[in-house]
Amino acid sequence: MPTANAYAATSAKSPLGPLAIQRRELGPRDVLIEIKFCGICHSDIHTVRGEWGEATYPLVPGHEIAGIVTGVGAQVKKHAVGDRVGVGCMVDSCGDCPSCRRGEEQHCLKGMVGTYGATGRDGQLTQGGYSTHIVVTEDFVLKIPEGIALDAAAPLLCAGITTYSPLRRWGEGPGKKVAIVGLGGLGHMGVKFARAMGAEVTVLSQSLSKKEDGLRLGAHHYHATKDPETFKKLAGTFDLIVNTVSAKIDVDAYLSLLALDGALVNVGAPPEPLPVSAFSLIMTRRVFTGSLIGGIPQTQEMLDFCAKHHIGADIEVIPASKINDAYERVLASDIRYRFVIDTSTLK
Ligand code: NAP
Ligand code: ZN
Repeated sequence: MPTANAYAATSAKSPLGPLAIQRRELGPRDVLIEIKFCGICHSDIHTVRGEWGEATYPLVPGHEIAGIVTGVGAQVKKHAVGDRVGVGCMVDSCGDCPSCRRGEEQHCLKGMVGTYGATGRDGQLTQGGYSTHIVVTEDFVLKIPEGIALDAAAPLLCAGITTYSPLRRWGEGPGKKVAIVGLGGLGHMGVKFARAMGAEVTVLSQSLSKKEDGLRLGAHHYHATKDPETFKKLAGTFDLIVNTVSAKIDVDAYLSLLALDGALVNVGAPPEPLPVSAFSLIMTRRVFTGSLIGGIPQTQEMLDFCAKHHIGADIEVIPASKINDAYERVLASDIRYRFVIDTSTLK
């Protein structure tokens, strides 16, 4: 069985540390990937700290994986040794239900298999990308086009698809006014995509401290949400708001910023409920909805879109020894805009 060096959480409260793990033997349709880089998503922190419910430890997080294929099973057709590939938040699904047949594997009716902390079809607990190697069935391995560096590509596998998907679903493009709430890992990708799709883009951030960056990333406008004037000035403005905030927000306040038939799509996943007033939805027929990553075909479409538009994530590459510091810095919004682990430092 292939052994991988990894970094794991052993409880909700203790820091992560090194751990050797076993990957399964290559099955006929499996791909063995040497992981080069793995992004740190805020979901990793929610999960290892038990904020979304009790986790199973030891837990190796990481679902923004970029690497090189180093082995393939006998029946693998889609990938070959040497290919540049990525793996996102899921590693398997039933493949047969209506959702899977539509390429929306994240909504598999039998439950998709998460990249970490889930039970795989082999009965083993899945372990994620803060590791040197992973074995994944070929259908859940994405191609990373030439032209996107592997380190800048890693965050596309979660932060990228999670913002690309709602923008596509809600028809973003020229003539549409889009706001992205929260300029973090997801938010900065949302700004890049909305701009590349041709929308008029506004960032709604807690303060103006990242305004210059926001405009450089592609926003046309930038406002501070801690300033109550922002909500008065922008009332009724947007066709679409994508909320990426990892903490509870005042949903009614953001709904008031929507134009007729506008939609607020929530991708941020705080543990607390997000209450909403009936009148916020009744007035101007507003929509309040959510979005979960994206299916495999759309994830590949997003990667190809990135290659065409020269889009990658803005990253800070760190060695494994800095993972615990990085968690604290993510919680303090002190990252521009994604930490990416150089997995060659996992010894
Ligand atoms: P992140 O890098 O920490 O970004 C979150 C941003 O939210 C921060 O940069 C900050 O932006 C803003 N923020 C943080 N705390 C806040 C507070 N108390 N009040 C107001 N704004 C605050 O996190 P991420 O990795 O982008 O993930 C964001 C959320 O999306 C997480 O909850 C994550 O679990 C979730 N997620 C969901 C999916 C999905 O499929 N739906 C996929 C991936 C992640 P400013 O400094 O600009 O205000
Ligand atoms: Zn994620």
